[in-house]
Amino acid sequence: MQHLLEPHTAGLDLWLAKRGLPGYRAAQVRRWLFAGRARSFAEMSDLPARLRDELAADFRLWTARVALHRTSNDGTEKLLVQLADDQQIECVLLRDQLRRSVCISTQVGCAMGCVFCASGLAGVARNLTSGEIVEQLLLLDRLLPAGERLSHVVVMGMGEPLANLDRLLPALAEAASPTGLGISPRRITISTVGLPGAIDRLTEAGAKYNLAVSLHAPDDALRRELVKVSKSTSLAEILAAADRYFAASGRRLTFEYVLLGGRNDQVDHARRLAALLRGRTALVNLIPYNPVAGLPYAMPAAGAVNRFLETLRSGGINAQVRQRKGDEIDAACGQLRRTASAPLSTISPVER
Ligand code: SAH
Repeated sequence: MQHLLEPHTAGLDLWLAKRGLPGYRAAQVRRWLFAGRARSFAEMSDLPARLRDELAADFRLWTARVALHRTSNDGTEKLLVQLADDQQIECVLLRDQLRRSVCISTQVGCAMGCVFCASGLAGVARNLTSGEIVEQLLLLDRLLPAGERLSHVVVMGMGEPLANLDRLLPALAEAASPTGLGISPRRITISTVGLPGAIDRLTEAGAKYNLAVSLHAPDDALRRELVKVSKSTSLAEILAAADRYFAASGRRLTFEYVLLGGRNDQVDHARRLAALLRGRTALVNLIPYNPVAGLPYAMPAAGAVNRFLETLRSGGINAQVRQRKGDEIDAACGQLRRTASAPLSTISPVER
């Protein structure tokens, strides 16, 4: 059976054409899925009953199911999603005033080796398909009440998005399409560990999404200790590729910098980071370390965070501290992982 949410297959159009059925049926089905939050073909009430049955016989809508659903007091919700092959991933809905953002995953696990991140602790099992990425968007969209729509997408969940670019781009096209979720590319952000070749591919693809590049250190020596994949690349190469993306897309660059207590959070690090980034139209998002059970890193002291921020600003760099969300349910940056991360007694299973 074909996965209807898999944008790689032009399946539905072809299927309709073979049966001599009008092409507008495909648009109706899309409307039900992306705007109508339909869970099954049976709900698509303006399609003939026979057509609904035939679609259900030939296509599957869902390959994934929600294994766990957790809600935090700050309005953050996290889904543990079980895929068709029983692999598991997590994705998150975040609420901030009028914003309804989702944070989605692109891989089962991660191979980049950031020493402070939960997502890569068990390595990477596989890439997600485009359909699986779209399913996350729809599963999270459904958590909203009628009348609320998703406004932003951040590709900052499990995995390295640019290591799965071929699957990610068609999925994001569905997010941005007026007949999909209709979320402007300006409100879609891809976060990358910084793979220069893949950033260039994004540039060549004419992408208009925001790009956030994870730096975490002002020099290659420290960065290689914190981000294992950076052994084979340099900050200079990453920044050059980011500059090319900025020049082609016009999107302001964001740099992310995890503050690890005592490791990379000193005023001297901030000064050198400011020098590294000087002259760019960029924003630095400082992310105070979110604790991951079993990892030997410390949260930065409040004073260190403020000093770091002020040092960047007085060095002429636009910077802010990312507000922590969902940490109570291990849904904050760097806390997503391949299995349930809390004792089962604190989690309520959800059936779709
Ligand atoms: N693979 C992408 C997305 C990672 S998640 C990337 O590397 O950018 C988004 C951000 O959260 C990244 O900057 C990542 O380094 C950061 N992060 C990872 N673990 C974290 C932790 N424990 N606390 C705070 N931020 C973390």
